[in-house]
Amino acid sequence: MGGTRLSWVGKPANGVVLCGSGTTGCHGKVESDRATAYENGWLVRRNGLMYPIDVPFLYQGDLVLLDDEGGITRV
Ligand SMILES: [Zn+2]
Repeated sequence: MGGTRLSWVGKPANGVVLCGSGTTGCHGKVESDRATAYENGWLVRRNGLMYPIDVPFLYQGDLVLLDDEGGITRV
């Protein structure tokens, strides 16, 4: 995961598991098309303006919000 001081990085809403590696599977798709990944909430910019709990996430065809208790809410 690399080193960071950002408190939200290790929280559940940021803990989506992807198959593959940086070049294969779903992880590889995210890394090869980061614009789409940001659009779909699969990546969250570390700009201090947004946190994973606030970013809609495309999950099985629906936009959802993930929370830090492991919950999923359709939006
Ligand atoms: Zn996959």
